[in-house]
Amino acid sequence: MNRIQHKQSKPYSYKIELVIAGLMMSGVALLTTDVPFHVMILKLIQFIGSSIEVIKQSCISIFIRPLVQMEFSDLIGLMLITSSFGLLLRQIRQRIISRSFESHNCPVCHNRLHRIHRHRWQLILSKALYLSSGYYQCESCQHSSLYFYEKSPHLNRG
Ligand SMILES: [Zn+2]
Repeated sequence: MNRIQHKQSKPYSYKIELVIAGLMMSGVALLTTDVPFHVMILKLIQFIGSSIEVIKQSCISIFIRPLVQMEFSDLIGLMLITSSFGLLLRQIRQRIISRSFESHNCPVCHNRLHRIHRHRWQLILSKALYLSSGYYQCESCQHSSLYFYEKSPHLNRG
């Protein structure tokens, strides 16, 4: 208990020391400089303002300008490519959906398959494809396969 408390208090006291050092340095800087305080604050505000402006300008030149300057045919081409990718994904998705739900047999030895726990990547994959999935293993030859199903509200498969 004591050790834990000691560990927790360590970064806190370090922070205090940093603040003390910062205050001391600012005090010394204020004593040695001739620049009035309000001028320093004004300069700081100007500095923050100009850096925000620089960030804004670079954001516009990286993300907005290429989109605005793009030719209309480029835009159409991009749309075609995107839609073809979408169609391809839909086709793959349709192809891997299993029509049967419970009558799965082992493709190797034709024995019964029983459901086992899915791996994390299989769960992520089925979530990404917006499909339900089940991972099955053969009772006799240890062959395992992943099946996908169309998501339906009365099938609580996840
Ligand atoms: Zn088998």
